[in-house]
Amino acid sequence: MNTPAHTADPIADDWQLPWEGGCRCGQVRLRITAPPLLSMACHCTGCQRMSASAFSLSLAIPTPGFEVVSGEPVIGGLHGDSHHYFCPRCKSWMFTRTEGMDEFVNIRPTMLDRHEWFVPFMETWTDEKLPWAATPAVHSFAMLPDLEAFPALIQAYALEGARPSKA
Ligand SMILES: [Zn+2]
Ligand SMILES: [Zn+2]
Repeated sequence: MNTPAHTADPIADDWQLPWEGGCRCGQVRLRITAPPLLSMACHCTGCQRMSASAFSLSLAIPTPGFEVVSGEPVIGGLHGDSHHYFCPRCKSWMFTRTEGMDEFVNIRPTMLDRHEWFVPFMETWTDEKLPWAATPAVHSFAMLPDLEAFPALIQAYALEGARPSKA
């Protein structure tokens, strides 16, 4: 589905694309033009540290539909196979690219100017979650799901995942 968002593309319309977003200080701005593949919450202790909270939130965006339109994000976090990108000025954790998984970028949905519609569809690393932490995710995994589980998850999310309400 590479139809430009400005045409009457029913999928872009369904998701109210394109989306704009940015960091806390506004130096780094993002633009998303493709529907997300999945929405997630991750309870792992690494995400607890980096989010300074109980869990991180992600929207997996197909890479061709993701663009940094201003600012120069810098690598922070692990400095490993997962590249965690931050605003160089306000240090907001904005998105993650993972080596060997170049098809998608995991953005933090709270960077989107409109994100009140976001609901995590799946959650990972519940083995490490804070005892009180709960999300409305309909698929829960003690650690990460097997790679072969993803096509069915992506298909289910395309049908059932929460959408932005019509503006
Ligand atoms: Zn910033
Ligand atoms: Zn995590």
